[in-house]
Amino acid sequence: MNNCCVQSVPPDSSYEALGQPVEDWMARLAAGLNRCIQNTNQTMGDLEREILQQTQGLERKLLAEASQKKADQSPPVCSKCGNQLSRLSQGHERTYQTRFGPVSIRRSRGWCKRCKAWRFPADYALGLEETGSASPSVQEMAALVGSKMPVAEASAVLERLTGVKLPPATLDREARRQGKRAERKRKELDQQLMDSQGSQQLVALGQEPFTLVIEVDSWNIRERDDWGRSQQKRAAGIEPARWHWVYGGTCFRLNQRTQSQSGRSIILSRATVMTRQGVGGLREQLFAECLRQGLGKAAEVLVIADGAMWIWNLVQDRFAHASQRLDFYHASQHLWAVAHALHPEDELAARQWIEPLLKKLKAGRSISVIAELEQVTKRLRAKRRAAAQSELEYFRTHRDRLDYRAAKQRGQPLGSGAIEATCRQYQCRFKRPGQFWTQSGDEALMCLETFWRNGRWQLLFPHASDPSKN
Ligand SMILES: [Zn+2]
Repeated sequence: MNNCCVQSVPPDSSYEALGQPVEDWMARLAAGLNRCIQNTNQTMGDLEREILQQTQGLERKLLAEASQKKADQSPPVCSKCGNQLSRLSQGHERTYQTRFGPVSIRRSRGWCKRCKAWRFPADYALGLEETGSASPSVQEMAALVGSKMPVAEASAVLERLTGVKLPPATLDREARRQGKRAERKRKELDQQLMDSQGSQQLVALGQEPFTLVIEVDSWNIRERDDWGRSQQKRAAGIEPARWHWVYGGTCFRLNQRTQSQSGRSIILSRATVMTRQGVGGLREQLFAECLRQGLGKAAEVLVIADGAMWIWNLVQDRFAHASQRLDFYHASQHLWAVAHALHPEDELAARQWIEPLLKKLKAGRSISVIAELEQVTKRLRAKRRAAAQSELEYFRTHRDRLDYRAAKQRGQPLGSGAIEATCRQYQCRFKRPGQFWTQSGDEALMCLETFWRNGRWQLLFPHASDPSKN
């Protein structure tokens, strides 16, 4: 709740920065450009640089003046509760890092009796409240490059491309702050859907009945939450854990899956979830994502994943009516384990044994495959028998998830390749050699990456979208 849109003072339409100094700038710019044109070694790149350099001072001055005007007209009310502020004082100066360099703004400060806190209404009006000292554009830059690449590299790339200087530690702090904000936004959006208030979030659906495909997987990430306390922990009988599970899921309508010219499957539109907040976190986020993608209207829901039991428990819990399929590649790997138990030294014999079985599996004859496994298990002894027995149990457990014939007939994927590829892409950022994370840090940056992938970036940085196009 706020009253910041109330404009009691009409804005002053004159700008000091657009007066006399503009002529000086224009003269300097023209001279610089002419120098570039005459110098045969210089290219369009030099012209671009020249224009940027010569106009940046003007841009910064304009931003400072306009921001100060906006600050001056922000009403003295609390941004959190709307209460009128008391004990007002003026001239509290603060410097912000902006797209055009540092800009200082003088703000008024007041006391909110209800919140029992000092408030700076200008910070709220300018979008600077939930940040260290970065302007909204710089907040976005830090969030974007910080979630895409390691901070030292991100800092150098950002400066090279935009001229904005954010040292790695500052960039890291700002990116995480934005990631935390993204987590709060995600929670708010998901909650709206749960409360049946998020109809504007639902994707547009045609009249045709459709199948919603859900794929689930996990990978692990290295963290250092207990860094430096290992000895202490071990003394207390606790082995410090470094590797932790990241859970991921994706969902899409089957009619969004098509083939590229080279015959590779591509999915035109889909949504992704990736989280360090445990299976419970994945379950809730994935459910919300599926609602957005049309879960409530789907003619069929299909879940594809590997054999991990937590996945199928989650499915039972949240998607009880869904059809289920075991990823074909994982199933074939388990058959290969039996082939190697049968023919440990003979790859050719192993292959000869497995090939008809893989064909049967693809043809939907899983009962026959399981019968064959029962036969061979009986023939084996000791360790090899135990190995085959455990694979037999695996196929028995998943016997109702093996209908690959139906999958082919209906044009459905046989495996969970889409989410596996997505997990690998996240790992390119979050699982680099020598990287250690903290749980709160990786969740925040992963959340930013997921907003970006799901096409919801503008919900975090509305200034980035052009309002005239809405
Ligand atoms: Zn208040």
